[in-house]
Amino acid sequence: MANMQMNKTAMPEQDPILRGKNFQEVALGYTQEQAANEAARCLNCKNQPCMKGCPVGVHIPHFISHLVSGDMEGAYRVLRGDNALPAICGRVCPQENQCEKLCVRGIKGEPVGIGRLERYVADWAMAQDLKPQPPKEEKAQKVAVIGSGPAGLSCAGALRAMGYQVTIFEALHTPGGVLMYGIPEFRLPKALVEREISSLREMGVDIQTNVVIGKSITLDELLGEEGFSAAFIGSGAGLPRFQGIPGEQLCGVYSANEFLTRINLMKAYDFPNHMTPVKVGKQVAVIGGGNVAMDAARCALRMGAEQVSIVYRRSEQEMPARAEEVHHAKEEGIAFRLLTNPTRIMGDEKGNVTAMECVEMTLGEPDASGRRRPVVKQGSEFVIPVQTVVVAIGNSPNPLVTSTTPGLQTQKWGGIVVDEDTLKTSRDFVYAGGDAVTGAATVILAMGAGKQAAASIDKALQEKG
Ligand code: FAD
Ligand code: SF4
Repeated sequence: MANMQMNKTAMPEQDPILRGKNFQEVALGYTQEQAANEAARCLNCKNQPCMKGCPVGVHIPHFISHLVSGDMEGAYRVLRGDNALPAICGRVCPQENQCEKLCVRGIKGEPVGIGRLERYVADWAMAQDLKPQPPKEEKAQKVAVIGSGPAGLSCAGALRAMGYQVTIFEALHTPGGVLMYGIPEFRLPKALVEREISSLREMGVDIQTNVVIGKSITLDELLGEEGFSAAFIGSGAGLPRFQGIPGEQLCGVYSANEFLTRINLMKAYDFPNHMTPVKVGKQVAVIGGGNVAMDAARCALRMGAEQVSIVYRRSEQEMPARAEEVHHAKEEGIAFRLLTNPTRIMGDEKGNVTAMECVEMTLGEPDASGRRRPVVKQGSEFVIPVQTVVVAIGNSPNPLVTSTTPGLQTQKWGGIVVDEDTLKTSRDFVYAGGDAVTGAATVILAMGAGKQAAASIDKALQEKG
């Protein structure tokens, strides 16, 4: 009998005041009792609307029904069969715009907490040290995967499960892409990402770090003398964009990428135990309204800033960040300067940031993105005192692989051109997916692309024989 409780079972969280001073995880996960209560809210709908909202097609009612009957391992096997990184997706997916948006329980009340249940099952499996199934057969062909973000990891996992010999080439010293260098510890503990990656290694995926494709070795060399039969490019969108306003070169202005990498990957929060410092002033402005901006603002707070503001040119309604992240940021005391756009960053004679000039905005007609276009209110300039500015207005694909691979077609803005159905690029046996193709998007879309490309690579290699 389904539990007809209208709202999701609440998930325990660290106190907002305490957590603003530490890097430990904010959301603490369900207890067994809470998970059982939430799972019982699922109606096991015949037509499975929630599944249609999941970019990797997780059999949601199926895994939840195992959970309801207390078969945790069965729940994990269903979940892991569709999703290579369930502990990660359970934490960072924008479920409110995907599976949970289509859940029938959301029509009158809150949807089933699908992400929370996914996290519960994945964490349980990690605690039991459950491993994914090894491949049933070995295939001789080698496939190269460029980049170890969610796109690359999911492509590698799916190809390895089919028996291919897979090598991931990663430019950084640590695999994981944005999962390791971008999303902060308090949202996604790094030990957990490392565990997911080591389970891929245990399946037989070879991961080579500190290899920059296009610099250390080219894609053509991989496909030529190195003997790879096919390649997947999942090199992400790690090239920061700036507004191009005066003062961006001043000391104290960071791209969100650099700011977050210093803090997360290089562990600046544990300076001097880790040797990469980051300078955070008392007053910090973060420009942007996406997940990256929320993460940068919440990191700045935890690094000791006294006043942190999000500066965003549209209203809260247009903010691309996950609702939960905005809610958590507000709870922690981050200020939101909405309908505000920076026009100039000011500094002292030593070149250090001291203030930022902004203008007020109003919203006009919808633009090409479908969101209402921000329009400057004439004569509304004002100045806010800040010592640190973090620019989080988006990223473009890094051009290194594309510029060193002849015949690889790209869009004007740098995204790799692919066939929508197969994710094949303009080069034979070369596929691409994730942020390198779409521009900055989400973990689950990148994973979905990795899985889709793996199926296409398998088909192409089988046809080639
Ligand atoms: P990436 O994760 O960027 O991985 C690409 C990898 O390729 C990197 O490791 C890079 O070093 C490597 N690489 C690049 N060039 C080369 C080369 N030439 N040779 C070898 N390796 C190379 N999404 C969500 O769904 N939920 C969230 O809460 C969320 N929060 C985010 C917070 C931040 C701070 C950021 C930056 C992004 C966030 N996103 C979130 C977006 C999400 O992380 C990305 O959409 C996703 O990681 C894209 O995956 P990817 O595999 O395509 O690329
Ligand atoms: Fe369960 Fe909601 Fe999916 Fe129905 S739509 S099966 S209630 S999760």
